[in-house]
Amino acid sequence: MDISFSAEHEAFREEVREFLDQALTTELKQAADFCPGIFLDYEHNMVWHKILYNKGWIAPSWPKEYGGTGWDLMQRYIWTTETSLAGTPSTAPMGLGMCGPMLIGHGSQAQKDYYLPRILSGEDYWCQGYSEPTSGSDLASLKLKAETDGDDLVLNGSKIWTTHAHYANRMFILVRTDDNGRPQEGITFLLLDMDSPGITVEPIVFASGTHEVNQVFFDNVRVPKRNIVGEENQGWTVAKYLLEFERGGGGAARFHTGLKRLRSLAEGTNASGQRLIDDPGFARKLDETGVQIEAIQFTEFRIMAAMSKGGSPGPESSIMKTLGADMGQYLSELTVEALGFYASPHQPEARTVGQNVPVIGPEDGVAAFPRYFNLRASSIAGGSNEVQRNIVAKLVLGL
Ligand SMILES: Cc1cc2nc3c(=O)[nH]c(=O)nc-3n(C[C@H](O)[C@H](O)[C@H](O)COP(=O)(O)OP(=O)(O)OC[C@H]3O[C@@H](n4cnc5c(N)ncnc54)[C@H](O)[C@@H]3O)c2cc1C
Repeated sequence: MDISFSAEHEAFREEVREFLDQALTTELKQAADFCPGIFLDYEHNMVWHKILYNKGWIAPSWPKEYGGTGWDLMQRYIWTTETSLAGTPSTAPMGLGMCGPMLIGHGSQAQKDYYLPRILSGEDYWCQGYSEPTSGSDLASLKLKAETDGDDLVLNGSKIWTTHAHYANRMFILVRTDDNGRPQEGITFLLLDMDSPGITVEPIVFASGTHEVNQVFFDNVRVPKRNIVGEENQGWTVAKYLLEFERGGGGAARFHTGLKRLRSLAEGTNASGQRLIDDPGFARKLDETGVQIEAIQFTEFRIMAAMSKGGSPGPESSIMKTLGADMGQYLSELTVEALGFYASPHQPEARTVGQNVPVIGPEDGVAAFPRYFNLRASSIAGGSNEVQRNIVAKLVLGL
């Protein structure tokens, strides 16, 4: 896609570049380069979050009246492209990308007034309590029990795969408040404090060696009923609305950058004087990948256009989720294929260009295998690809 900019948008692009030149420190860039998955470690995440917050650019996709930037579609495109070219860290999605938009759409005025500024400033860090040990794809079967006691709900049960629960001070959670009727009808959407008595967070460590997810146990945890979002027993609608934002997040710009990096890697010469790009099979894979990324870009534009008019991403977000997960995995596979032995962790020499190693930067060598392993989870996290295809068939294609 060839996109040319107006003079105003060119000026905006220059402003973004100047800001990134000055704000993106080597340490932050390295933290992003070495991050094997989607979620940056909490400490660096917070540093980058505060920089963007102080600049007023922390929530480009939020409506301006709630603290968004008020950028038009093209400015948002420029922002995602320039940040990805510069290699910035990404911000944690649970507050800015999920809880915030959900509260804007469904929260009470008091909830918006209290929580939204805290999400923007980084004072609150959220985690998502949806999945349970026996409820993932079939989320409506969830069982974590919440019983009324005075003005509170009392929670017992457990949530699993809870990303960054070990950092979060808040959780948005789905609980079972009624066992009668259709499973969807007895679910309530709640906001809770992670330091409430009775909550225990236990780590689950990935094959990639990283600790991102947890199991969270609830033993008579009291949550005030004023923390219900929407109506009691009507949380399913709110839950589905939030999922559209979780699944509709962008990625095309980062994929473009990843492909560019991969192409330079393949154009390097190895110890035997050969270039991978001269292998027609590998070159074809890169070209085909480029075409697929354009398709992702197009879908992303559709979603960004809907959101810039104040809408939600819609069920098309499931297309984005599936294509994005597949593409991230495929790029990581091609990177491992290109690097061979040097994709393994703990190959410090892989960081140096010119030592018979066709590596252009640490991000392509040292983190390649951990990233490959970590990204296997992306076709399950946020709803598995199979289930997203069912949603697309039903709600987008009307089959
Ligand atoms: C890295 C990671 C981070 C996560 N973070 C969070 C988090 O922060 N908070 C949270 O609440 N959850 C989180 N999850 C959980 C995630 O949402 C679930 O893993 C996901 O919804 C799948 O549920 P499951 O694991 O129970 O698999 P299951 O539902 O048991 O599915 C097993 C397999 O069966 C297939 N399948 C199931 N039903 C169907 C169907 N109807 N048609 C076709 N195929 C089907 C699935 O596609 C899958 O391949 C995370 C998961 C991962 C991997």
